[in-house]
Amino acid sequence: MITHRMEPGKPIKLTELPTGSKEFYQGERETAVAEFEALREEFIELQVRLYAEGRQKLLIIFQAIDAGGKDGAIRHVFKGVNPQGVSVHAFKVPSKLELAHDYLWRVHQVVPPASMIGVFNRSHYEDVLVVRVDNLVPEAVWRLRYHHINEFERLLHETGTTILKFFLHISAAEQAKRFRERLADPSKYWKFALEDLEKRKQWPAYMDAFEDMLNHCTTPWAPWYVIPADQKWYRNLAVMRVIVQTLRQMNPQYPLSQEDLSGVVVV
Ligand code: ADP
Repeated sequence: MITHRMEPGKPIKLTELPTGSKEFYQGERETAVAEFEALREEFIELQVRLYAEGRQKLLIIFQAIDAGGKDGAIRHVFKGVNPQGVSVHAFKVPSKLELAHDYLWRVHQVVPPASMIGVFNRSHYEDVLVVRVDNLVPEAVWRLRYHHINEFERLLHETGTTILKFFLHISAAEQAKRFRERLADPSKYWKFALEDLEKRKQWPAYMDAFEDMLNHCTTPWAPWYVIPADQKWYRNLAVMRVIVQTLRQMNPQYPLSQEDLSGVVVV
């Protein structure tokens, strides 16, 4: 099965990676949705086990260009999962307090503890993306961050966190289509800002930054998955497949009781 997992050390060129699903999925959309729904049921069951087991941690990171589908992917993939076992964190422009610390400070505070699935909508990768594209710090400063990030993720991995990183890859044409849809529907205005059009002009600079991020930070302990995301149904299926496959490997188990429950009667 194609998982869209990048290989450490193998050069990644975003222009060579499709944004559409055509060459990866030949079946009908309905078949993909049915597979997604079946996997979603399994995900719900596996998450209950992970929570009950109380030992392992799963961190799932989403990065994408504006309108790339981070919110939609999170909404669909986590639908029905017990909210008590999942924490979603959306990273915004850092506060004054956050900026007064090192850039990983705010991130480390919200990584998932044992038994939890942590979801990052944007992440520490913003510190080599928007920060780089908008020249918020000099190159000598952001360049060191690939190394910091790899070591930070290694620390998480070595202390029991499984890490999945999804880059939702859309085309410039698909972004334009989604912006137009937002402009045509007042219920979607909240998702749109004029600033988005300014950022769209920076598309090539963002693609360079994403490509460097993928090349520098695809590690055995924290792989990037580049998901073709022009078709939302395929994006959801591809992400779900990776998550379920990963949870199967983590193989969480219901814990045995510490007490002798044999012969216990409830009256
Ligand atoms: P979203 O676009 O994710 O739905 P927002 O519209 O609130 O949510 O955007 C969050 C903004 O915060 C983005 O423009 C993003 O680039 C910015 N941001 C996140 N992390 C950082 C950071 N470390 N430095 C500067 N800007 C950041």
